[in-house]
Amino acid sequence: IFVVFEGGEGAGKSTQVNRLSEALAKAGHDVVVTREPGATDVGSRIRSLVLSNGDGTDAPSPRAEALLYAADRAHHVATVVRPALGRGAVVVSDRYVDSSLAYQGAGRTLPVQEISWLSSWATGGLKPDLVVLLDVDPAVGLGRVDTRGLGPDRLESESRSFHERVRYAFLDLASADPKRYLVLDAARPADEIADVVATRINGLLSS
Ligand code: C5P
Repeated sequence: IFVVFEGGEGAGKSTQVNRLSEALAKAGHDVVVTREPGATDVGSRIRSLVLSNGDGTDAPSPRAEALLYAADRAHHVATVVRPALGRGAVVVSDRYVDSSLAYQGAGRTLPVQEISWLSSWATGGLKPDLVVLLDVDPAVGLGRVDTRGLGPDRLESESRSFHERVRYAFLDLASADPKRYLVLDAARPADEIADVVATRINGLLSS
């Protein structure tokens, strides 16, 4: 099965990805933990293009950024996710298509329908079995992350309203397809979140 964690900055995705993958490995499952952008060699080069402009380079334009994320995803799905699913592993990814719909679509105000089309082309239509959305108010989440490494272009282009659009885009995606989503308040204690996620995944694995 393919499980994706989504959420804004400071939602605690990486903690929950680790908790889930440890629990699954302990229970004897073959688990592949991965992320976007940057899980592969190609992806890590793309990640440095999209995420670093503290080094004086220009930030990519919104459409270039959308294509770079799509390229990272296409390579990630082809070389990591599909092969792992093919041998029966549980794949747990930190971010996937919804991040592009939320950040490049709602955030950068590109047409969400076009980002959706680009994403399904990149992935060959591969959808997750479950998306765990860790919902966080940007005022809280941004306070939890260290933004010192971000260049001036990114800080300026990712205002509070940008992160609010991102948050509501994630919530809208979840409400449009409630069976595929587990939406949790990221302010809840990490242990509680991990328990709810584990219960849901165990249900999926035994069905
Ligand atoms: O999840 P992680 O913290 O590694 O994400 C790194 C950054 O990439 C986030 O700050 C997020 O704003 C950005 N991102 C994005 N569009 C995506 C995926 C991630 O802007 N599709």
